[in-house]
Amino acid sequence: MAIGFIGLGNMGFPMASRLAAAGHGVVTYDTRQEATERAKGFGALVASSPRDVADRTETVFASLPSLQASSHVAIGEDGVIGGSRIRLFVDLSTVGSQVAQRNHRHLMDRGIAALDAPVSGGVSGAQNGTLAIMVSGPRHQYDAVTALLTEIGRPIFVSEKPGGAQTMKLINNLMAAATLAATAEVVVMGAKAGLDPHVMIDVLNAGSGATHASRDKFPRAVLPRTFDYGFATGLMVKDVRLYLEEAKALGLPSQLAKATADMWELTLREEGAESDFTAIVKPLEKVAGVTVGEAAQ
Ligand code: NAD
Repeated sequence: MAIGFIGLGNMGFPMASRLAAAGHGVVTYDTRQEATERAKGFGALVASSPRDVADRTETVFASLPSLQASSHVAIGEDGVIGGSRIRLFVDLSTVGSQVAQRNHRHLMDRGIAALDAPVSGGVSGAQNGTLAIMVSGPRHQYDAVTALLTEIGRPIFVSEKPGGAQTMKLINNLMAAATLAATAEVVVMGAKAGLDPHVMIDVLNAGSGATHASRDKFPRAVLPRTFDYGFATGLMVKDVRLYLEEAKALGLPSQLAKATADMWELTLREEGAESDFTAIVKPLEKVAGVTVGEAAQ
């Protein structure tokens, strides 16, 4: 039986193509025709709407860029909710727990099960099938879909509570957002003081200041000045805002998250939503009057 896949962007395309390469028929939909045309290259069939995907497949995955797109695809007019064959909707997008819970409720009313399954590991993780996949929802549905999820990464069951995996994903991304922001700030400070950014990253990675930002993001996309890691600033801002909303709903002060959010909002204003999130270093460089990376050599 074919599976459905909606949203063929930086993450969705490689995930869908891995499922196809593992021998599954894939029925796809994306609002960008260019993306669905490209998906024909790995043998995908192209549907005319999310509902059409759900008329043709029992299990439908989605990887979408916004809360609105996720709600629209799940429960909107022409959404998978109206499909005649769908039994399970697996949302791989990061949308926060409220949207996940609302989608879950509406889908359940129509006899469709839902799992929220946000991912971490970036575009390279999606290409290599090494994503961390955080899953919440009915345990038996998770068990039923584990083999498929294993094709795209390592699934970890977080909670039976709908939205639980979304909260976990926001926690993960706040850590990623804070450590990239902190690494950008300290490396610019060191460059201003006359230190070599390459040496600084080497030292951080040999010492207790190492993070995923210093081990992977800086060497791959900041020091070579390529700014092509594959995650948009707008998406990181979405995740940081969602974290703050969830923490506020729990009555927590979140000082560090707020300081982190200020730096991401500044990057959004100065570099734009489409910029790669590694561009967070650029507004700091402007203020300091230094450039971190190749141009500094
Ligand atoms: P993207 O913008 O590259 O891709 C989103 C795709 O969805 C695009 O092809 C777009 O055309 C399509 N789309 C938008 N609205 C649609 C709709 N209504 N119906 C059908 N298709 C629609 O985004 P991405 O980087 O692939 O991220 C997808 C999700 O994964 C986001 O929630 C993001 O937060 C999360 N995520 C991304 C990364 C990363 O490194 N890029 C890592 C982990 C998690």
